[in-house]
Amino acid sequence: MIKAVVGANWGDEGKGKITDLLAQEADIIVRFQGGANAGHTIKNHYGKFALHTLPSGVFYDHTTSIIGNGVALNIPVLVNEIKSITDKGVPTPKILVSDRCQIVMPYHILFDQYEEERLGKNAFGSTKSGIAPFYSDKYAKIGFQVNELFDDELLKSKIANVLETKNTLLKYMYNKPAINPEDLLNTLREYRDMIAPYVCDTSAYLYQAIKENKTILLEGQLGTMKDPDHGIYPMVTSSSTLAAYGAIGAGVPPYEIKQIITVCKAYSSAVGAGAFVSELFDEEAEELRRRGGDGGEYGATTGRPRRVGWFDCVASKYGCRLQGTTDVAFTVLDVLGYLKEIPVCVGYEIDGEVTTEFPVTSRLEKAKPVYKVLPGWCCDITGITKYEELPENCRNYIEFIEQQIGYPVTMVSNGPRREDIIYRTSKLK
Ligand code: GDP
Repeated sequence: MIKAVVGANWGDEGKGKITDLLAQEADIIVRFQGGANAGHTIKNHYGKFALHTLPSGVFYDHTTSIIGNGVALNIPVLVNEIKSITDKGVPTPKILVSDRCQIVMPYHILFDQYEEERLGKNAFGSTKSGIAPFYSDKYAKIGFQVNELFDDELLKSKIANVLETKNTLLKYMYNKPAINPEDLLNTLREYRDMIAPYVCDTSAYLYQAIKENKTILLEGQLGTMKDPDHGIYPMVTSSSTLAAYGAIGAGVPPYEIKQIITVCKAYSSAVGAGAFVSELFDEEAEELRRRGGDGGEYGATTGRPRRVGWFDCVASKYGCRLQGTTDVAFTVLDVLGYLKEIPVCVGYEIDGEVTTEFPVTSRLEKAKPVYKVLPGWCCDITGITKYEELPENCRNYIEFIEQQIGYPVTMVSNGPRREDIIYRTSKLK
């Protein structure tokens, strides 16, 4: 049985925590898209960890962690990440890397930086991890798959080919030093030795696991709003963030994905540029940012302050629909306990008309939020384990949002720790 854990919004919804929680009952956890450009933050008895490439199940010794073919694999980052967790006393995890996974090349990171520099004020707000140049090359068919590292002759001729265009761009477009083919070959040989212990045909492994009725989790990165097709293009990421892509990025049949747990945060946050209708500014934003997440809303990979706002039902309804949600995990609700009143965005006003359907980007830029203000619960709800024991206004907040988005909230997360979770039977299910 395959379950996907994905985000409804702009990322940072708390997918890491939910995956870590569900991993208790899982055999295999797979990353299927994205790269080291975003991170998951996980708090458990070993400490607090920011993971970028490793799936959130690496803390258990009963699970196997897979880096699927859809991931942008930065080999030194992965190897350092493994070291950083084992250094803190976590048992060496079982990790498999797809032999079809493509590699983030050192020049992808350079091109990401140079292009953002060139764009200046029109920059995308990239994390400069090389993700956009990586996926561009993948689809331009000049990427390097992990299996190719093991064929020196092939590497040499590919490097010569690729550097012809890369060095021309570096010289004439960016006025930067050229890449030496020998140096690149040596780097790739180092990458080969680092990654060799983990490489295998992961889709064959997963096929076998499905036949043996193993529980497999697909862990998404970012959320629907960052999907290159269905998100706020062009302020999106470069690989699909949807559960459906899990089938491709892991190499499993789509019909095996039986449960899609879409993580929605109880308020909004976003990193990078792009329209954000329910965004808050000034002191109101500062306060939510400071109190938000676990230790403030700052990026796990970049440390950048996140943009914050009220819960957006329009974006979340759309976000859940595109994911194919079977269950909503509603997270970080405890943070809102300081508010007397909580506005919720229930519609967008565009050119004088109110809609609850999420629009294309050009119309989204014009949208103004329509708010309904709900009463707050004004207390700390961490430690509560039964839904009925939540304050009435808190339950009303959850149930109001559930009605608006139309997908069943079956899990409520009221703190960063694994045990801060409330299961609930929804009337929508
Ligand atoms: P992800 O990328 O979707 O996994 O999200 P992140 O890990 O970047 O951001 C979620 C942040 O919220 C992390 O710091 C988590 O420890 C924290 N977190 C997750 N769930 C909860 C919750 O229910 N309450 C609080 N206060 N923090 C949470």
